[in-house]
Amino acid sequence: MSKLYFRYGAMGCGKTMQLLQVAFNYEERGHKVCVIKPKTDTKNGSKLLTRIGPERETDFCFDKKTNIFEKIAKKYLKVSCILIDEAQFLTKKQVDELLKITTDLNIPVMAYGLRLNFRQEDGGFEGATRLLQIAHDIEELKTICECGRKATMNCRFLNNKLTTEGPDILIDDGSSKIEYRALCPKCFYKYQKGEE
Ligand SMILES: [Zn+2]
Repeated sequence: MSKLYFRYGAMGCGKTMQLLQVAFNYEERGHKVCVIKPKTDTKNGSKLLTRIGPERETDFCFDKKTNIFEKIAKKYLKVSCILIDEAQFLTKKQVDELLKITTDLNIPVMAYGLRLNFRQEDGGFEGATRLLQIAHDIEELKTICECGRKATMNCRFLNNKLTTEGPDILIDDGSSKIEYRALCPKCFYKYQKGEE
């Protein structure tokens, strides 16, 4: 039986890079894959980009209303694997559709995403929460904090100050400097206290 995989990790841990590697491995062996991502990730259009270079066009982008099961059943039945970037933006219903793709269509699904949003404590992302609940196989992709410890938290900095308030998606209108950093809990608390 095919499985639903969830690979999570803080920003910069190489999730998209690993997704592209898996796609490459399938295609090198003559298999087709279907690569998808949410429309909310508008910064790169419909493309997947990585910090270290490789990029790829997606097969389709989804929004909160897309029925992913139907879309796959109609057009992508011949693929050997479905690969999803930024999977935290899936709805609970869509994650349930992914599980149904593995059981009813017998296609493995690999979802890559964040585990928790930058606020750290209000339930995080619906898609990530559901994936952690029902995926067959869950694995953390590790990355390093600026101090050298393992980074587990995805943190938003506004004008160089750590912030845990605001919407999930912040549009960069150029009025303030927005960045995300992967931190270990010790550094997170240090920045939260306002120590530099
Ligand atoms: Zn640290």
